[in-house]
Amino acid sequence: MSTVSEPTQTSPAQDSPAQDSTEQAPAFVESLNPATDASVARFAVDGPAAVDAAVARAHEAAPWWQEQGFAGRRRHLLRWASWMAAHRDEAVDLLHRENGKPRPDATIELLMTLEHLDWAAKHAAKVLADQSHRPGLLLANFSATTSFVPYGVVGVIGPWNYPMYTPSGSIALALAAGNTVVFKPSEHTPAVGDWYVKAFAAANPDAPEGVLSVVHGFGPTGAALAASAVNKVAFTGSTATGRRVMMAAAQNLTPVVMELGGKDAALVAADADVPAAADAIAWGAMGNSGQTCVGVERVYVHRSVRDQLVAELQKALAQVRPGSEDGASYGPMTMPAQVDVVRSHVADALERGGTAVVGGLDSVGERYISPVVILDAPEDSLAVREETFGPTLTVTTVDDMDEAVRLANDSQYGLGGAVFSQARGAELARRLDTGVVSVNSVIGFAGIPSLPLGGTGASGFGRIHGPEGLREFSRTKGIASQRFPLPGVKLLSFGRAKAITALLPRVIGLRHVRRS
Ligand code: NAD
Repeated sequence: MSTVSEPTQTSPAQDSPAQDSTEQAPAFVESLNPATDASVARFAVDGPAAVDAAVARAHEAAPWWQEQGFAGRRRHLLRWASWMAAHRDEAVDLLHRENGKPRPDATIELLMTLEHLDWAAKHAAKVLADQSHRPGLLLANFSATTSFVPYGVVGVIGPWNYPMYTPSGSIALALAAGNTVVFKPSEHTPAVGDWYVKAFAAANPDAPEGVLSVVHGFGPTGAALAASAVNKVAFTGSTATGRRVMMAAAQNLTPVVMELGGKDAALVAADADVPAAADAIAWGAMGNSGQTCVGVERVYVHRSVRDQLVAELQKALAQVRPGSEDGASYGPMTMPAQVDVVRSHVADALERGGTAVVGGLDSVGERYISPVVILDAPEDSLAVREETFGPTLTVTTVDDMDEAVRLANDSQYGLGGAVFSQARGAELARRLDTGVVSVNSVIGFAGIPSLPLGGTGASGFGRIHGPEGLREFSRTKGIASQRFPLPGVKLLSFGRAKAITALLPRVIGLRHVRRS
């Protein structure tokens, strides 16, 4: 099996890495293994000129990609998926070394990436097929069609926590919908992004290079992409950066889809299967070191099952430990700066009356953070209000599920959530102000390619995945075609007959005045 590239290779901007970046901007982006600090990969930073050049190549490639039609694109996308599947060991190794997640978690990330890619490739033709409508009374001699046309070039800016699965939720759907894509991966995981993009070229040597390309760098490279001549921006990352991306995109009135942070709550009702809920919540909160946008960060539990839930969480987390060796439950914190955020949230919650029932402030190490569960932290503490993005959980006691819904919804964020209840799962799920919810499980929605994913409020807007995701990367276009002239009517003409004009008030009366 051949490899795509050596991870230490530089990107297309290597001839003049710092040529168009600011004086202080680093010329290279280098990712480090978060478990060892060993260098994983180094890429030249792409400044605005290099970004514009990549976008120009993507525009040049767009007609070729659109000419492939749904069938041709499906073939190319499935070849790409097959290539990545055949080279899975490389992908898993890179995900493990660059992001820090255990190999089994890296394998799941690759599998989920491929499942969504496969779904997009196979469903785009049906989801984006023209839709015919009845034209209505006034223009009964017309046919009416909604068609879904690609935007052209989509700029995708991605995060580091699921460095393949998350951006792929935009990239695969944008490509399947007929767009070409320029991708800027996170500066913390550039090699995974580079591998993913080069895999497309390796699997599809017939495709021009601009169909899917990568640009590397820090914030300014992302800002340059958002302000470039792309026709749509898909951003996944923090809420604060999302605002900056929107401002950059506003210069050209470029539409955006925003997949931002979260503070997901799990509701545990009196009739829940408590051991099963604790098992799911423990994983949903601590898995991937808590660095999951739709990870569980808060629990609202009915008073009658609170003690049982706490005991079951203690049991479920007793053997859970971070590490980088085989068998570790999760890895190190990928981004060193996040450790301080987690420490400050835990300290604030404990100082303000919360009780640590699993771990405590000492659980927050330099690289690794052991699970922390805090009972009844005040609702205005940082650990309840702000995205912690670490392996911590608050558990708050409520007297009824209306209170649980109210507190869960009292958040700036509205990404995902979970409900554990035998009888009221669907009802409570509908009452959560979030884009996605799992009932009697956590994060289930992210593994179902036909379901849309996205948030409300500070968690963003727009949808990736599923039919809604394919449409997010398509412009809807209405086409009205006159099939035959209506003799003597000519409604849309100065030559309209007076008799027709005289009839119109009667038409209004007959059709729209309600008699009851
Ligand atoms: P981040 O906002 O720091 O960075 C995301 C990307 O934006 C990176 O590629 C970064 O280089 C780029 N960037 C930084 N400044 C920029 C600017 N001014 N203009 C354009 N691009 C810029 O986020 P992160 O730390 O990489 O990821 C973690 C965050 O992402 C968390 O808040 C998490 O909840 C969120 N997230 C959301 C989803 C979702 O689907 N809603 C999925 C994964 C992660």
